Amino acid sequence: PRLANQIAAGEVVERPASVIKELVENSLDAGATQLDVEVEQGGVKLIRVRDNGHGISKEDLPLALSRHATSKIINLDDLEAVVTLGFRGEALASISSVARLRLTSNTGEEESGWCVEAEGRDMEARLAPAGHPQGTSVEVRDLFFNTPARRKFLRTERTEYGRVEDVLKRLALSRFAQGFSLKNNGRVVHSWRPATTQPEQERRVAQICGPAFMENAVHVDIDRAGLRLWGWVALPTFSRSQADLQHFYVNGRAIRDKLVSHAIRQAYQDVLYHGRHPAFVLYLELDPGNVDVNVHPTKHEVRFRDSRLVHDFLFRSLHKALADVRP
Ligand code: ADP
Ligand code: MG
Repeated sequence: PRLANQIAAGEVVERPASVIKELVENSLDAGATQLDVEVEQGGVKLIRVRDNGHGISKEDLPLALSRHATSKIINLDDLEAVVTLGFRGEALASISSVARLRLTSNTGEEESGWCVEAEGRDMEARLAPAGHPQGTSVEVRDLFFNTPARRKFLRTERTEYGRVEDVLKRLALSRFAQGFSLKNNGRVVHSWRPATTQPEQERRVAQICGPAFMENAVHVDIDRAGLRLWGWVALPTFSRSQADLQHFYVNGRAIRDKLVSHAIRQAYQDVLYHGRHPAFVLYLELDPGNVDVNVHPTKHEVRFRDSRLVHDFLFRSLHKALADVRP
């Protein structure tokens, strides 16, 4: 409980897209290399996320659904340097309290898999054998079936599906080494193969952000004093006014941060004399001990231990990358 109190709590289940974010993050934390997502009716009727990760043992299956049951943080020192995407142990418990959830898994050590089901606040999970290759599948049906007040906040199927797609694109941009697919109402809409080389990565970015972004982008890769910034920034010739084409990841986690935006905007204006919203897909990597991700579960915030240093590094790195190609 002490540890639980030290972890910023919050409601993570707002809509189908937020369920998918939590499930996909769990699959990534489980070391999956292939993640297949399926939705029906914008995710309200069905969400299914299937992975080939390390799986959950028969004994741990019922535990995975109980609140604050996480296998990821061992002690407070770990909380100082979280390397997994999840660590609160709330997502599956929260989701299963507002939907019909079926969790099927196989660790690969047993011949077949096992599954548990939970429905609404009835947390009594029934354990039963179930065929499944190594990995985990989570099926979430009838989201908010027992909470009409929350169901009221859901928008049209089209809008909810759009958010699902956005969330998955953001996640697919965060992990090039993993393959992702998205099926909507029985039809495969996206399939992104694992991308390891730079051309493969650029192909995925072009698929997700549009070819025009990639055609007008500068590649950045700067490594200095334990900080690395890499990715792509669009030049002003990328004219589509796309305010939301701003993807920034810190150690593989999507974030939105004033300090980061400021450093990028400043470098952009300084070199290109251009005040428009810059478009970018950028990755910052640093020692996990130098960044605090335990700020708020749904807001994409982080706190840098030395924010001045990070700001300067971002500004200088982008300044250099842009100045090198300035026409
Ligand atoms: P958290 O991710 O914060 O630990 P969750 O409620 O999201 O909490 O998940 C609870 C636990 O269930 C995880 O700590 C993990 O042990 C297990 N789990 C959930 N999803 C998966 C998965 N796809 N593969 C393996 N284990 C999983
Ligand atoms: Mg989780």
